[in-house]
Amino acid sequence: MHLIIAEKNISANRIAQILAGNEKVKATKDGNVSTYSFNTKTVVGLKGHVVEVDFEPGYTNWRSEVHTPRSLIDAGTVKKPTEKKIVNIIQKLSKKADLVTIATDYDTEGELIGKEAYELVRAVNPTVRINRARFSAITPAEIRSAFENLTDLDFALAAAGEARQLVDLMWGASLTRFISLAARRGGTNILSVGRVQSPTLAMIVEREREIENFVPQTYWMLSLATEKDGVPVEARHTAGRFTDHEAALAAEAGTKEPLVVTDVKEGQKTDRAPTPFDTTTFIVAASRLGLSAANAMRIAEDLYMNGYISYPRTDNTVYPKSLNLNGILDTLKGGVFDADVAWVQQNRRPVPTRGKKESTDHPPIHPAGAATREALGQDRWKVYELVVRRFLATLSPDATWATTKCLFDASGEPYTATGGRLLYAGWRRVYPYSEAKENLLPVFAPGERLPIKAVNLEEKQTQPPARFSQSRLIQVMEELGLGTKSTRHEVIGKLVSRRYVEGNPLRPTLVGRAVIDALDNHAETITEPEMTRTLEEHMQLIKESQRSREDVVTESREMLHRVFDKLEENEKEIGTEIMEQTAEEHTVGPCPACGHDLRIRHIGVSQFIGCTGYPECRFNISLPGSTWGKAIRIDEVCEKHGLSHVRLIRKGARPWDIGCPLCSHIASNVEALQMMPSMNDDLMHRLHAHHIYTVSEIAGMQPEDLANAIGAGTDEATELAREAEDALEVLRRRSELRKFIRKIVPPRKGRSHAKIIKSLLEQGIGDIHALSLAEPAAVKKAGIPEATGTELLEAARGLCNERALREAGVPAVSLKKYQAGGVASPDDFCYLPIPYLASKTGINPETVYKHVDMVCGHLGRPAPAKISKASFERGRKELLEVPGIGEATVDRLYLAGIYDARTLRTADPEEVSSITGIPKTRLHDYITHLK
Ligand SMILES: [Zn+2]
Ligand SMILES: [Zn+2]
Repeated sequence: MHLIIAEKNISANRIAQILAGNEKVKATKDGNVSTYSFNTKTVVGLKGHVVEVDFEPGYTNWRSEVHTPRSLIDAGTVKKPTEKKIVNIIQKLSKKADLVTIATDYDTEGELIGKEAYELVRAVNPTVRINRARFSAITPAEIRSAFENLTDLDFALAAAGEARQLVDLMWGASLTRFISLAARRGGTNILSVGRVQSPTLAMIVEREREIENFVPQTYWMLSLATEKDGVPVEARHTAGRFTDHEAALAAEAGTKEPLVVTDVKEGQKTDRAPTPFDTTTFIVAASRLGLSAANAMRIAEDLYMNGYISYPRTDNTVYPKSLNLNGILDTLKGGVFDADVAWVQQNRRPVPTRGKKESTDHPPIHPAGAATREALGQDRWKVYELVVRRFLATLSPDATWATTKCLFDASGEPYTATGGRLLYAGWRRVYPYSEAKENLLPVFAPGERLPIKAVNLEEKQTQPPARFSQSRLIQVMEELGLGTKSTRHEVIGKLVSRRYVEGNPLRPTLVGRAVIDALDNHAETITEPEMTRTLEEHMQLIKESQRSREDVVTESREMLHRVFDKLEENEKEIGTEIMEQTAEEHTVGPCPACGHDLRIRHIGVSQFIGCTGYPECRFNISLPGSTWGKAIRIDEVCEKHGLSHVRLIRKGARPWDIGCPLCSHIASNVEALQMMPSMNDDLMHRLHAHHIYTVSEIAGMQPEDLANAIGAGTDEATELAREAEDALEVLRRRSELRKFIRKIVPPRKGRSHAKIIKSLLEQGIGDIHALSLAEPAAVKKAGIPEATGTELLEAARGLCNERALREAGVPAVSLKKYQAGGVASPDDFCYLPIPYLASKTGINPETVYKHVDMVCGHLGRPAPAKISKASFERGRKELLEVPGIGEATVDRLYLAGIYDARTLRTADPEEVSSITGIPKTRLHDYITHLK
């Protein structure tokens, strides 16, 4: 069997379809992993990396004394499977294979993924031949040619990828731990530091600083308005920017008629057709269509995987000779691009355009297959069309512009105006993405006199440098050698998801700045692009087999140790600096009670807003748990309270805006306050004026304090506190009811728990006890279907019974035995005879008596007489001696309270028969025997 391993499931399927030709491909699913077979071949897809590198066991405890952050630098690493099912199937198939072909993407990452697959195969089959297929597009021509020219895995290329993986792990893990511990951050608040990430963040922070420190300069621009044949023309003073106001005013005053045309220069300008797309230029172009870098790459990868475009991770901007440009044009014929393709074929430039970078691994991004708008959907089509049109543009002739430059003289002040007209559209015909703005000037002749309609002196200010857009940042990262074509957009995505930067253009957050400032002050190596660039160069050397992986990793280790020398020396300062700077990030505004800062606090999964004046001031506002999203401060401020609005953010969910935390706090507690019988608008107003917003605050206050606060007597305050206590209890039970229902009634579309609870409350059912006494009709009215309703009521009864028995004092262990014996309610305890209870549960009758006595006492009912263990056992013997009475009959007699010869002798046969179902005549016989 010939096993072919592809990078992803989708590419595995396509490769199989292409290689099979007319043969039918059999798709099989094994534990959710698909395989595609035909002839003697089987194709299976990975999920990118199916193993990951991690530290050896023992390094998971962040606060370990032995395994300090620095110790991670030299820690051993292991490879662990992350996709067990795929690993299993690869190994199962490898055992049977007599040839294995690795067909992962062709670049450093793909080669490393291929090497991981290679190792998985080798582990179970040490002798099978393993080779490699390399292609840049998943199209029939490329795939067939790759499989006709199979080569070997490039271990040097894979080693470069491994070196990067190891270095990234070592830098990222050790520095992240060190900085987080220094700033006392843990859990979801850790401060991540990374080899590429930190220098990138530093650039964004640096730009923000430039913007803040920017001092605008005032300057003046002078222009005049004239016209010819009714066409208005604007001419600018040739001095351009006047930085001297006096000079500008003098030039303005000197601008007078006659305005004379002194010179007219006509010219032509070539407008070069754009160069082929590499990853960076593609991302920049896609960003003009409104796609973020990450989105553009995700869509491009999808299009590649489906054979529509070539591999989108490339640094190459020159079409290789081997690329069949005519073939691609033919592929695009017949569809929506038909007319454009025909035009390009007729007007083709002699050689396609070429950019500055040329590499041999992949060609520039180009279309690989024909597609339709319907098949791709809106966003994918947008990207596909961009790639197609760019390709067409690179084969199209340059555009030409006619240019005009006129010079004027206004009584000694020189002015100029320029015009441009598109003479020949060339590539612009097929590539409408960059605008061609024409500015047509009337025809002027030297010596001609014109009117001056107006003279404008405008005051302007120099502008600070612009913030980085995502695509601009990717360009700069490339120039600085930060990251690779495959990782740059991911690094930016991480900075956003870790809340180091926000918005587009990108702006650093307080935390982002704090981390970079601290690193800049104490270990600038981490934030400078130098170190990262060095590694990229070393990786190139590994690829060329000029350096070994170990060698490069060792050098990086040494560098990191030097960084730690500095960091450890300054650990305290680093921690303090970060903590002081980031405190502001959590500050919401002034406490209404005492004026100190209110701050968002996170403790485990719970979060709240507390006063920094604690413990003197106990003011606080509770927030939904962090499972609903992490609470952060946003820019909006409540006009009434001066507090920043709060938002809950959660990965993969829409943000939840709480708004002003105090407004929301007040609104959500009004209803509970109104549950207090004495509550009225005036009292509510007085409470709010003293920053008392919740019933629990009222219940928890000393009556004197409450009396003082609202200007009432102590008695009145005591009464209020009691009412608050009652309201709290009602609320507690209500919330318990809500949780109980949520547990039993599964949420379903169109059935909201809020609605169910509302209906139950309207019917006077406000807690589990009330629910246990409710009629099935009431539950049905609340929108719960009958079967679920029955289950709900039974569960409520069971819970209430159990609670009553516990309250009465029956211990949990015994309770289980009673329940197992079918004895569930307090009533059972009071009505069932002790011998019966004892025999049903196996509990000692004396203990049963104790329980029955407690339960009856609790319910205010009389308890039955006590039965000793000895008399119970003796009684059983006595009964069994009566002819005709066996074990089964004894147990039935217990139900009627008969447990010995005496109680049987004095029993009323009729009554006993009705309880136990033993025929009256037989009972008569027993009794006669005893008498
Ligand atoms: Zn306070
Ligand atoms: Zn407010």
